Amino acid sequence: MSNESLANLLKEERRFAPPRELAAAANVTADAYAHAKEDRLAFWAEQARRLSWEVEPTETLDWSNPPFAKWFQDGRLNVAYNCVDRHVEAGHGDRVAIHFEGEPGDGRTLTYAQLKDEVGKAANALTELGIRKGDRVAVYMPMIPETAIAMLACARIGAAHSVVFGGFSAEALSARIQDADAKLVITADGGYRRGKPNALKAIVDEAVPRCPTIENVLVVRRTGQDVSWGEKDKWWHELVEGQSPEHTPEAFEAEHPLFILYTSGTTGKPKGILHTSGGYLTQVSYTHHAVFDLKPETDVYWCTADIGWVTGHSYFVYGPLSNGATQVMYEGTPDTPHQGRFWEIIQKYKVSILYAAPTAIRTFMKWGDDIPAKFDLSSLRVLGSVGEPINPEAWIWYRKNIGGERCPIVDTWWQTETGAIMISPLPGVTETKPGAAQVPLPGISATVVDDEGREVPDGAGGYLVLTEPWPSMLRTIWGDDQRYIDTYWSRFPGRYFAGDGAKKDDDGDIWLLGRVDDVMLVSGHNISTTEVESALVSHPKVAESAVVGATDATTGQAIVAFVILRGTAASDDGDALLAELRDHVGKTLGPIAKPKRILTVTELPKTRSGKIMRRLLRDVAENRQIGDVTTLADSTVMDLIQAKLPSAASED
Ligand code: ATP
Ligand code: MG
Repeated sequence: MSNESLANLLKEERRFAPPRELAAAANVTADAYAHAKEDRLAFWAEQARRLSWEVEPTETLDWSNPPFAKWFQDGRLNVAYNCVDRHVEAGHGDRVAIHFEGEPGDGRTLTYAQLKDEVGKAANALTELGIRKGDRVAVYMPMIPETAIAMLACARIGAAHSVVFGGFSAEALSARIQDADAKLVITADGGYRRGKPNALKAIVDEAVPRCPTIENVLVVRRTGQDVSWGEKDKWWHELVEGQSPEHTPEAFEAEHPLFILYTSGTTGKPKGILHTSGGYLTQVSYTHHAVFDLKPETDVYWCTADIGWVTGHSYFVYGPLSNGATQVMYEGTPDTPHQGRFWEIIQKYKVSILYAAPTAIRTFMKWGDDIPAKFDLSSLRVLGSVGEPINPEAWIWYRKNIGGERCPIVDTWWQTETGAIMISPLPGVTETKPGAAQVPLPGISATVVDDEGREVPDGAGGYLVLTEPWPSMLRTIWGDDQRYIDTYWSRFPGRYFAGDGAKKDDDGDIWLLGRVDDVMLVSGHNISTTEVESALVSHPKVAESAVVGATDATTGQAIVAFVILRGTAASDDGDALLAELRDHVGKTLGPIAKPKRILTVTELPKTRSGKIMRRLLRDVAENRQIGDVTTLADSTVMDLIQAKLPSAASED
């Protein structure tokens, strides 16, 4: 960045008050902010009492050796007990925990009592395989109930899980197993994706010979496809099904490791993020209760993220289950067997809270409004967004076409590293603004600073920082304390640097502006990718876009935009439209933000978690060799984009 802070170009005037009825019965009301501010640590100590502790903590935070935090240090608890057993003990054993919807249309319902038995059996099976407190277990699974059961079984016996997304290669899997020295891999023969069984066991077979620490491979039978079988392999249905469902949970220290999870790899080599037990569970439980306003007796909650990502960890497994939620789990893709599958699932289970990603929402926009219109979505009452900045126009589309203009949208900013939601509206409190995450949650301290670390005034942009430790913060990067310090705590000493750009609007509300690494420097102005992309998406013919700064002889960097057109406009990519789009951005944000070149494409390079990888587009725009694509979901996308290059319209 130049020494001028990040430009604030986009003005968004639309406002949406919280629905009156929801506000009147909301789990968390406006006084929570003041209450938390009065005594932040007392506030978190109070939230910790949401959980069942075997030994209640008396100490809240030990920050004597920053940036290594210890939360609730003298408390002891069992995370799995908190997510399962205590609901059964409270008389809710018959409540549905998971409505599982397989991609082929098969399904299965697990009550809390059944989940307790399954987790108990799995915990006994892991113990039989020699897994002990402090060990690591790799989980490489499709989206099926056994994945959550396996994670909870690990938590129950004090082994840390390391879930590796089921779309990753043998190489990515073995690197993650080696980094964590895992002793066991839990996998499945395969899972269903896009209408066919895809193989997982075969990839594990390729990875395991490179992983000398692996002693056993535990395999769930999901698809029934042929698998090869070796000495280390054990079938889940043979080993787990025969076990007793009785398992006495042991309480562990609050700082006992719960899991390692690698970041999505949008900006570079993934980092093994370590989360521990008591603080993590406190914050995921509180935020799930506050941000989604979950009423466990009546709501049906659906988080569409894969368990392989942090969203699946915190807002499918640990947050909702610790709160006794009834939730939907869907195995497959949104377009199998038809593009209305998500809406059909909402109609079928009467989903009331939906948590999805902007990349999915923009895809639904591209497919057309008529698809969700065919289904009954009237059960919905709260909508969430996570993963990337949501463009105001995508937000409005989500509100109108999915939320029936009645559901508040919570745009939740957080990271693998933060463990839980940090900045988000509260659905019964906040007057929402399309495209803004807006306010740090009660108990969270965040702000925006300039290059020198000074807080920027309202109306200005800069770097997002967190100014106080929080319960679900990462404790370190697994095996690399120095990288933890260097990556997050060195840029602004004493503060956590998130790596994201942000601005404060005139009311002091926070808007995320994309990754700092992606900021474009045009004629001495730092321009955010998010604002230019949002301006493009606000044109009625554009569904999605990604912009990058490419080296330019006159302006330092020039803005190059890649756009995906909406359904009906898809065939129109003539020069007239491209000129119209350029003018549209100029009118919306000012002439400085006009893209120099615009290319229409049919897909953008995304990580497997659906995030746009702008660094690869920058390589294309600067005619460089394409960088590391190992975390890319579909590598053919880059070939298609490169083939487009000569037809790019340019102002000069
Ligand atoms: P890596 O750190 O390896 O590059 P990653 O940052 O994509 O991967 P995640 O932890 O899954 O890995 O993603 C967190 C990031 O996602 C945030 O830092 C931010 O850039 C983006 N993000 C998440 N939610 C939001 C949101 N609501 N608004 C804006 N950006 C968001
Ligand atoms: Mg990151």
